[in-house]
Amino acid sequence: MPIRAVVTGGAGFLGSHLCERLLGSGFDHVLCVDNFLTGTARNLDSLTARDGFRLARYDIAEPLHVPGPVDVVLHLASPASPVDYLRHPLETLRAGSLGTWNALELARRKSARFVLASTSESYGDPQVHPQPETYWGHVNPVGPRSCYDEAKRFSEALTAAYRRTGKVNSGIVRIFNTFGPRMRVRDGRVVPTLIRQALGRVPMTVTGDGKQTRSLCYVDDLVEGIVRMARCSLAGPVNLGNPEERTVLDLAHRIRNLTGSPAEILLVPRPQDDPERRCPDITLARAQLGWRPTTLLDEGLRRTIHWFSTVLEPRVTELVA
Ligand code: NAD
Repeated sequence: MPIRAVVTGGAGFLGSHLCERLLGSGFDHVLCVDNFLTGTARNLDSLTARDGFRLARYDIAEPLHVPGPVDVVLHLASPASPVDYLRHPLETLRAGSLGTWNALELARRKSARFVLASTSESYGDPQVHPQPETYWGHVNPVGPRSCYDEAKRFSEALTAAYRRTGKVNSGIVRIFNTFGPRMRVRDGRVVPTLIRQALGRVPMTVTGDGKQTRSLCYVDDLVEGIVRMARCSLAGPVNLGNPEERTVLDLAHRIRNLTGSPAEILLVPRPQDDPERRCPDITLARAQLGWRPTTLLDEGLRRTIHWFSTVLEPRVTELVA
């Protein structure tokens, strides 16, 4: 029997890698639905001519009807970077609320497995380190980031309720900072920002004293975790991320060395609600999914820098201007 998946938000950074991985690992049909709010069809160039792949422009905040059987629904549609969700707070809340509802309803009608791409931001500015799934979080419900954090917390509650009431075999993954090719150069996240600045030979901006930490997972590892979640019937939430913590300053030095850039590192004020530390406890993912990240940070950075430089270098001067 052919295996069919629907990926919402499949034209985004993670979604496009996920569509590729699904088609390369036993899924016969992948339908990507995306309204291109923050993603682009270009991310799927390698797939558009491929048998079994379909791309549909669609807003998942509207009810979605798909002909034929569906085995797995993977719900990734949502702005994800702070720059995007601060620019689109209402769309973010719609994708998390109505969008999750519609994606769950599709899974219910098709008796499909459902996987929600939730986030470490469900933990807010955590007071427990590293964060296990049992930690309930520390979220400001009306702060600037709340459109994203609370949308995801609502998505999780809805996903759990569909499962509890026996309507959908659903699972939740909480994704921590992930990086890799196809991140947008101006998405405001730390890795693309530092790489853009290093390649453009302009000052590399590090917020605060740079001692705040991030734990960064390479995209191929992350996608492998999502596929494992799709293939089992675990409820979660399950943390997916790299537990190796690095300071932002350390990251800036690595990127400068790997690019051979002469750019200076410049300390600038930290934005409001910027978390001090984020680090996943992945004990559950190791035990239940047999999953752990395997790509070394420098290797992941090298691949990402290579992608940014081949795709963007001709335009770097314009991009950093
Ligand atoms: P992204 O912005 O690159 O991709 C999101 C995609 O969703 C885009 O293609 C966008 O056009 C689409 N989209 C948004 N609203 C939509 C709607 N209403 N209908 C249809 N499509 C819609 O972001 P990403 O980094 O690929 O993140 C994907 C998912 O993973 C998000 O749900 C995000 O919350 C989650 N996540 C990502 C990270 C990370 O580090 N990248 C971390 C935690 C969680």
